[in-house]
Amino acid sequence: MNINKIKQRLKVYKRVDITTDLRSLSENQKKIIENLIEAGKVADHIFWRQSSHDALQIRDQYKNQPGPLQDYIEINYGPYDRLNDFKRFVGDGPQIKPLGAGFYPEDLSRDEFTNYVRENSDTRDKLEDLYTVISRDEDLLKTEPYHQIYQTEVRQIAKNLENAADLTNNRSLKKYFELRSKALTSDQYYESDIAWMELKDNWIDMVIGPIENYEDRLFNYKTAYEAAVMIKDFSASEELAIYQNHIENLEKNLPIKIDPAKSIKDTDTILEIVNIAFFGGDYQAGVKTIAASLPNDERVISEKGAKKQLYKNIMEAKFDQILIPLADILINKKQRPFVSKERFISQVLLHEISHTIGPNYVINKAETVRKSLKEKYSIIEECKADILGIFSAPYFAEVFSYSTDEIAEQYVTYVAGLFRSIRFGVEEAHGLANLIQLNFLRMNKVIDYDARTNTYAVDTNRFFKVIKELTRIVLTIEAHGNYAEANNLIEKYGQLKSETSDSIERLNEIPTDLDLNFNPLL
Ligand code: ZN
Repeated sequence: MNINKIKQRLKVYKRVDITTDLRSLSENQKKIIENLIEAGKVADHIFWRQSSHDALQIRDQYKNQPGPLQDYIEINYGPYDRLNDFKRFVGDGPQIKPLGAGFYPEDLSRDEFTNYVRENSDTRDKLEDLYTVISRDEDLLKTEPYHQIYQTEVRQIAKNLENAADLTNNRSLKKYFELRSKALTSDQYYESDIAWMELKDNWIDMVIGPIENYEDRLFNYKTAYEAAVMIKDFSASEELAIYQNHIENLEKNLPIKIDPAKSIKDTDTILEIVNIAFFGGDYQAGVKTIAASLPNDERVISEKGAKKQLYKNIMEAKFDQILIPLADILINKKQRPFVSKERFISQVLLHEISHTIGPNYVINKAETVRKSLKEKYSIIEECKADILGIFSAPYFAEVFSYSTDEIAEQYVTYVAGLFRSIRFGVEEAHGLANLIQLNFLRMNKVIDYDARTNTYAVDTNRFFKVIKELTRIVLTIEAHGNYAEANNLIEKYGQLKSETSDSIERLNEIPTDLDLNFNPLL
């Protein structure tokens, strides 16, 4: 690919510095962070090895040639464009990234592997294991566990985690670092996952190891290395705690009565707000995540629940680099100042809280809402979380004694956010859920479109009434597990109109995602 095209592609990712302020931490805590970041960098190196067979070779080849091409190789962890159908943009080799990444032989097909597993059922567990790499040995497929094939790297990570364990005074954190270090050198993660769920009073946290399986596009068996070094956010955690304290009242305030015996009791989910001091490996490849719910091990989830962590400084960076320029184009001039970073973060928190409110079981049946709504469930549930979040705005405005302007900020920021999500595509639950909300609000005339300026404005006086109506509709669908009504709502309001697609089209100069450069202030 020629250099001008690379420059164009590079614009998809806006480069931003993520400067987490760690200056208030103690010297000891800073040393812990330094060790964790070191460990994270090594995990990042393992991910390079997993990304594709030639990823490291290509990176080294351009090591001394700084410029757009080198940057683009770094962003994509190799020669394939992650946001352009994995097409090769540099070097010789397959034109599309092999589905098996660096986990399987480059030429291995699904059929060959499936047949091989069938004929060699005694080695099936090893072949399909989450933590083995497959290679050819003449006619055989050989497996090698991660802790062996990445031995040098894994030992380095283990050492850094042990250093961190020695430095911390927090017992639960010490235990976690020690067990995680052992886990990585044996690929047995259960105990360390339990210890992670049992962390207490820790302001530092880390996710590290082979975790998600999306990089293996052949079978989704093999897990990719990733690392995130996290610091809890004091003020946002306080805000979150206030929301959580009001859940019961919120439930009483809903437009329909929910039988408490049927409602969600989500005491198993820990919700935390953190700032990221370092991302490595899978976390840094392609679209950057702003939240994750871990661990993935079902045994741990059934014993300890899950922990959902929201990455505040990553969300803020996306707000600055994506939502603000989007609002400059799409939001009416008078209301543009209402797009607020604080309200954006609040909306995300309220969205997550709202997933824990509402019906879990269907009325008159011992069946979950999820089961009744089948493949429509995610769309309706994401819609519910958004709409309930914005429905709660006036309630919390009272709790926090907000002014009318601040309520308007919440509404306008929410509307700008709808376009941000629709832009990612309506083939996926989040995007479609946002389109349904936009169309419902447009058709009920509380979002006005000015064809002269191509901008949108919110009718802040009538807005809540319509939000309340949509909240009632969505909660009623869930409470009754009404699949037909879910379908009706999606059919009626899930259509992408030319007005909307034209608006989205006008955002094409705005970056799709970010290229994060971590620069913690120590
Ligand atoms: Zn959600």
